[in-house]
Amino acid sequence: MKIGVLALQGAFREHIAKLNVLGATATEVRLPADLDDLDGLIIPGGESTTMGRLAQSYGLVAPLATFSRSRPVWGTCAGLILLSDRATGQKKGGQPLIGGLDVLVDRNYFGRQVDSFEVDLEAPALATAARPEDPTGSFHAIFIRAPAVLEVGPAVEVLARLPDGVIVGVRQGHLMGVAFHPELGSDLRFHRYFLQNICANA
Ligand code: GLN
Repeated sequence: MKIGVLALQGAFREHIAKLNVLGATATEVRLPADLDDLDGLIIPGGESTTMGRLAQSYGLVAPLATFSRSRPVWGTCAGLILLSDRATGQKKGGQPLIGGLDVLVDRNYFGRQVDSFEVDLEAPALATAARPEDPTGSFHAIFIRAPAVLEVGPAVEVLARLPDGVIVGVRQGHLMGVAFHPELGSDLRFHRYFLQNICANA
């Protein structure tokens, strides 16, 4: 399988390393032509305004939106924000969103209370992606200036919530978004879930 990782800014190298461990071919995406012949795309964490503006100057916003309409895409943290149809705290004429996920995100949901934290999440959908070498049960998630999902449309499946019920992982068919950073740490289950349950079936 050949998976692209948007490599304009942010944690793209860590995603590439995880994909390589799982035996996928991972390539850096910076130009529209880099999207050709991909089986899936990851949009990493970073800073969504910066990434959106860079995507604009590389002529990538429309090609990314076209790709996301039918092909597997997974957004992590800032990538989730870019994949969302609606985001709070956007300045008018500010950051462009790629869209596709029928959700409303708050870009800096945890910003005022706590910058970064780690927590064990219940993510039952990952059961299908478990292997003996991975931790079983809950997923240890790292949040860094993270967004959260405030509203989901009817086609959206919730994949993960915080203990207080706040939604931090979603899937809508071929699109997936998580508010945390599965590319940090050693647990491969979210990457395996994306490859096996979304890319392989697309
Ligand atoms: N809250 C950040 C944003 O607006 C995302 C932070 C992250 O990706 N770690 O882009």
